[in-house]
Amino acid sequence: MNSDARVLAMNVENINYDHLWHELFLHASADRISKHIPNHEHITCEPCILGKQTRTPSKQMDDKVTDKLARVYIDHCGPVTLTTYGNGKYALNLHDEATNYTWTFVVPDKIAKTIVNVLNAWKAMVDNQTSLSSDPHRVRS
Ligand SMILES: [Zn+2]
Repeated sequence: MNSDARVLAMNVENINYDHLWHELFLHASADRISKHIPNHEHITCEPCILGKQTRTPSKQMDDKVTDKLARVYIDHCGPVTLTTYGNGKYALNLHDEATNYTWTFVVPDKIAKTIVNVLNAWKAMVDNQTSLSSDPHRVRS
């Protein structure tokens, strides 16, 4: 027996047939494989373990705020294919988490100066309407 044949014979002897059957049956369970292959033993398969693992949420959500304007979310979406009569292509949505109230502004672009102007106008409006003197604690986009 030459060295290549000896290596091949050693590799054939070391084959884990339970693992081989598991892979040939596309990672089926030991019970399912046992229906077709007698004396099949359960094996530990790393890809199956990784595939069945579940993840816990990486971060707990903050508690929902109850104060008006304590947390406001910003969503700037667009452009839309049709422009408005005022040349608006984008929508700027401001959502208050406590009241679920949403203000929508139609804006022509995503330029920072445009957004800052809209936010200043919105802040003046909500200050006037709510008589709340405090700024939003958190603004998220
Ligand atoms: Zn597997």
